[in-house]
Amino acid sequence: AAGSDDSYLARLNPEQRAAIETTDGPLLVLAGAGTGKTRVLTTRFAHILLTGRARPWQILAVTFTNKAAREMRERIGTLLGSPAEGLWLGTFHALCARMLRRHAEVVGLTQSFTILDTDDQLRLLKQVMEPWRIDTKRWPAPGLLGAIQRWKDRGLTPARVTPAEDTDFANGHARAIYEAYQTRLRQLNACDFGDLMLHVTEILRSQPDILAQYHRLFRYILVDEYQDTNTIQYLWLRLLAKNSSGQSNICCVGDDDQSIYSWRGAEVENILRFEKDFPGAQIVRLERNYRSTRHILGAAAGLIAHNGERLGKTLRSGRDDAEGDKVSVTAVWDSDAEARAVCDTAERLRGQGHSLAEMAILVRAGFQTRAFEEQLIQSGLPYRIVGGTRFYERSEIRDAMAYLRVLAQPADDLAFERIVNVPKRGMGPAALQKLHAAARADGVSLAIVTPRLLDNGTLKGRSGEQVRALMNAYASTHDILAREGHVVAAEHLLEESGYLDMWRQDRSPEAPGRLENIKELIQALADFPTLEAFLEHVALVMEKDENAQDARLSIMTLHGAKGLEFDCVFLPGWEEGVFPSQRTLDEGGLKGLEEERRLAYVGITRARKLAMIFHAGSRRIYANWQPSMPSRFLEELPDEHVSRHTSGGRQQRGLQAAQSLFSDGPVVASRTRRPSNADTPAPFQPGDHVRHARFGVGIVLSADRHQVEIVFETAGTKRLLSSFIEKL
Ligand code: ATP
Ligand code: MG
Repeated sequence: AAGSDDSYLARLNPEQRAAIETTDGPLLVLAGAGTGKTRVLTTRFAHILLTGRARPWQILAVTFTNKAAREMRERIGTLLGSPAEGLWLGTFHALCARMLRRHAEVVGLTQSFTILDTDDQLRLLKQVMEPWRIDTKRWPAPGLLGAIQRWKDRGLTPARVTPAEDTDFANGHARAIYEAYQTRLRQLNACDFGDLMLHVTEILRSQPDILAQYHRLFRYILVDEYQDTNTIQYLWLRLLAKNSSGQSNICCVGDDDQSIYSWRGAEVENILRFEKDFPGAQIVRLERNYRSTRHILGAAAGLIAHNGERLGKTLRSGRDDAEGDKVSVTAVWDSDAEARAVCDTAERLRGQGHSLAEMAILVRAGFQTRAFEEQLIQSGLPYRIVGGTRFYERSEIRDAMAYLRVLAQPADDLAFERIVNVPKRGMGPAALQKLHAAARADGVSLAIVTPRLLDNGTLKGRSGEQVRALMNAYASTHDILAREGHVVAAEHLLEESGYLDMWRQDRSPEAPGRLENIKELIQALADFPTLEAFLEHVALVMEKDENAQDARLSIMTLHGAKGLEFDCVFLPGWEEGVFPSQRTLDEGGLKGLEEERRLAYVGITRARKLAMIFHAGSRRIYANWQPSMPSRFLEELPDEHVSRHTSGGRQQRGLQAAQSLFSDGPVVASRTRRPSNADTPAPFQPGDHVRHARFGVGIVLSADRHQVEIVFETAGTKRLLSSFIEKL
């Protein structure tokens, strides 16, 4: 039906129509959230096909996520009345992988090259680094891998890295190692993720005939979320779009206010210089928002107005039911109360006829999901974690849980096997087999037999030493468990076993989030009287099977929510140090803060009908409750679009108490549920001179009952357990 008339155009406003019908020449659609940019791209794709301007495989369409690509493919199918096949539609990486398979030999690979995951990359890089004898304490391999990745994001092959670029890492050897790493990859007929774009861009740069082939193939190029392209993606697009005929049918849509990936190398400047790159470019602005009610738009606009560097756009509601409810800001007593408030509200809304499928909790950081997951499970509300893994299924959480399982139950061989070589302790399959054989012969578990094999010399050498250190960590943890309880013990075990250090030294972008998750796990322990009770709880939580048919509430990060929309959006954790994040506050720059504010703007504008913000008066940091300050973004929301609440009278008092605590200075609210020795003061004061067996002499920066942050003379700054520190 759609093919025979142009009814698909009649449903659009005049500016949107213009953006679709201006098929030839470069076009930039610059518009705010929810104005139909993605819809324009999708309709434009269908329009080009329906008007016979191109065949399906002659359009190159780039989306930001695989999910977005799937959705676009489906909608195009609907508009065309039949599923579309053979499309060049996908993410930058997916499209480049496909291109690289066609021309792999140009860069010395064969068509069947493999794509390495992060673990493989790291292992390979470590091998490659060996001849340089780099001090890996100072220059750990993951950091170097990060540097290489950033070079790749900027389109720099080893040959293009200038000596001036090569100063900050590994004493100026980074470029040479990068080159050796690339050579090794080639020998293995492999590439890493960053190579997909880098290789294809090199091919297009160096092989005019291949480039010309693509210029003939792609008559139209469509790009969503253009504000978040990084340099290499930009180079790739420009190569493909600038053909010799001078005609570039490229259409990019984007919103500078939603640029939230600069930490991954995205350059919002790309959008600003579109007109320069493509002379004669037309710019279409869309101003009517069809997604959200007037109050939601007003709140979002008021917030983003606090950013300095903006192109400036008008946004008004295009909906008839425009007014809607104000954005709510609810203060709750603590993070547990926040989880309850969100779940209660979700349940109430469901009772009023909203589907759970139309609700989402959008968090700033992955660690926040745990409290919501547990509350949702308790309330029997089905949920899914989008673009991520349920908290207790995340690999670092499973590792940490395995450490704790061995502590509670030395017979747990499965758990022991999981952790004995994480971090790496040289326990390969052969060594593990020896363990198993000995354990079988003695009729005991692996954790029990191991000390014996250490004593009789079966396990020896470097790997033996490392396993001995692990067993010693368990021994000292058992003491602490008896003396100080399971929370301190858990932390001690993860610290002394080297597990936390493994992630601290990891320079991959996910590592800080993993550390936060582990911290959250330790905090969760405090809710249970014993380690065993906690382990049982997790086992039960994990067991609850969900019915796949159920409508489910979505939990995801704000970054992952880009481009999506929901009727009801929950925005928890709007507190200083959570959102804006502590890392942003520590860095202290305006740029980081503006990016956080754009993230807040993205969050609010995901909502069609209800945007509900929450902030807690206190959050648990380790076993202590610390008061937290409301996010600065809350003050920036215009009053006329916001209604402010506190959740319950008792909570109100608690909140004020927590806040007054804060105004008296950074006092730690002791509200541990386990009695232990909650009231004993911290054994160290800032400024104390101390000594640690391994790290030497240092000065205390901060301290609580369990933990001391110390800056050491030679070993840098570390957080350590107070029981291992000696006052001088
Ligand atoms: P974002 O910046 O968040 O990616 P966007 O600009 O891509 O947003 P879309 O997701 O394309 O916006 O559209 C937002 C919502 O408005 C969608 O539900 C879409 O179907 C609807 N919409 C877009 N244009 C119109 C229109 N002319 N009439 C009615 N609804 C529309
Ligand atoms: Mg969009």
